Amino acid sequence: MTQYDSDNIFAKILRGEIPAHRIYEDEATFVFMDIMPRADGHMLVIPKTPCRNMLDASPEQLAAVMATVQKISHAALEAFDAQGITLQQFNEAAGGQEVFHLHFHILPRRDGDALRPPG
Ligand code: 5GP
Repeated sequence: MTQYDSDNIFAKILRGEIPAHRIYEDEATFVFMDIMPRADGHMLVIPKTPCRNMLDASPEQLAAVMATVQKISHAALEAFDAQGITLQQFNEAAGGQEVFHLHFHILPRRDGDALRPPG
């Protein structure tokens, strides 16, 4: 698998080199709004340490990210008036990954809605 590239856009967000709409952070994870939301309240959860994707992650990185995914999903139900949550996570280009820093998409869902197409 290709090495982690510290010039990826989420690494730049973590370093404060490009802006992001910040939602939450703790010592291990960071949450911000997706720039092209496919649902109202579409957020991304990332580890603060370098990690290309799930295939490259340590158990500790996965545990920290998933704990934040659960915490933010609970908050999103209330904050975005949603009844459900869809999680998405892509690995490598063939798996649909476009930004090569591990991330989980949190997509708040309402009864009967449909996700908007990417872009
Ligand atoms: P994936 O790698 O999971 O296929 O998709 C990457 C996600 O990152 C997309 O949903 C895209 O909208 C989002 N994204 C790409 N560039 C930026 C950016 O500069 N800022 C933010 N907040 N999100 C981004």
